[in-house]
Amino acid sequence: MISSHSDTSREVREKLERAEGAREKEKGKKRRAEAIKPKGAGAPKWTDLSLVSYLKTIYMSKPKYFLYARKSTEDDDKQVMSIDAQLFELREFARKENLEILEEFQESKSAKTPGRPIFNEMMAKIEEIGNCGILAWHPDRLARNSIDGGRIIYAVDQKNIVSLRFPTFWFEPTHPRIQKKKHDFPFTGTFSCGECASMFTAQWATGKCGGKYRYYRCTKKKGTCSQGYLREEVLAEQIKEQLQTISLCDKYADWMLQRVEKWEQEENNLSQSGDKNLAVKIKESESRLDKLVSAYLDDDVPKEIYLKKKDKLMRESLTLKQEKKDFNHKGNNWVEPLREWILDTKQADFLSSSDNFKEIAFFVKKVGTNPRVLDKSAHFGALAPFGFVLSARRFLPFSSSGTPSARRSSALSECEVSTCDPTGNRTPIYAVKGRCPSR
Ligand SMILES: [Zn+2]
Repeated sequence: MISSHSDTSREVREKLERAEGAREKEKGKKRRAEAIKPKGAGAPKWTDLSLVSYLKTIYMSKPKYFLYARKSTEDDDKQVMSIDAQLFELREFARKENLEILEEFQESKSAKTPGRPIFNEMMAKIEEIGNCGILAWHPDRLARNSIDGGRIIYAVDQKNIVSLRFPTFWFEPTHPRIQKKKHDFPFTGTFSCGECASMFTAQWATGKCGGKYRYYRCTKKKGTCSQGYLREEVLAEQIKEQLQTISLCDKYADWMLQRVEKWEQEENNLSQSGDKNLAVKIKESESRLDKLVSAYLDDDVPKEIYLKKKDKLMRESLTLKQEKKDFNHKGNNWVEPLREWILDTKQADFLSSSDNFKEIAFFVKKVGTNPRVLDKSAHFGALAPFGFVLSARRFLPFSSSGTPSARRSSALSECEVSTCDPTGNRTPIYAVKGRCPSR
């Protein structure tokens, strides 16, 4: 049966209203039971109003479920339970778990490509109503492609889906709330104490002028430690300063990226021609072997010679094939790490003036070694390639009158960069101390 959108949403609304009515009844019962309960010392002292609002919160937060059963007509789905069997199991599961089913959906379609009409109809309802749950036999009944999977994840993010239940899995996105609060301190789990090596933790505290601030401190789990508190902003500033020392501004980073791309192209061309040469040799060797076999079959070659020659040709062919394989493997495997490193120096530059502390913490974990705080000052080492930036930064050209960013062209000029050897290694000729010109 196909009903129009307004019809279906009316149906859902009516169902919700009916559910609400039943709930109200239940609430009344509970309220009355509460009222006649003896109020001992330990009993919560509910005023009638707070009890109602408490129950309301519980009721409001309890999701209504959409039941979804799917089986495609494709052969590879033969292992999967029939739709009827899924429905039976899911209803049983819902009964046992006391889940309220708002509506049931069933669909005979593959989930490998997006565009299942029933699934889409269900998702539209979920997105409209919000605070819903989905009950399905297995996650793969719901989505097997990234678009539908993404739609579900987005609905979870938007809290339109607050529960995903599968008889074999259990996913409750509302549960980790307490944990989430812990993650509000972006730098916890990143720094350790420079004095006693315990981890740093964070807490809210009131400052001298009464403002609420986030502080970081040593957990002192390894014994006595004299380290004090450090305010989040101060810590962040120190990290940002350090990030700056391993950063390259867009100008240089982009130039390096361009250079890497050029190298990559050159090497690709080289390896392509090398690869081609080897392919030709392999083919030649194989055709010689063919000829030998034909000659032998025509009785033109004695067996002894044939075997000897065959052995030689096969060895040759194998060697060539291995050579070709090695050649392809060697390839450009240095390109991506180098490119990523350049992007990291760019990211360090961006983050050194950013207030996204979470991203800063993530980055420090990625590129920093042994991040620690000692005497209210944060330090971290940098992986080897960043050490290069640290030492090379002072050689970067810098002049206040004509900063490169003020120029029209985005590439460095020849006088800023010189070629020192045929491999293309560059040595900057300027030796002027200074920061990246763009800042
Ligand atoms: Zn400590």
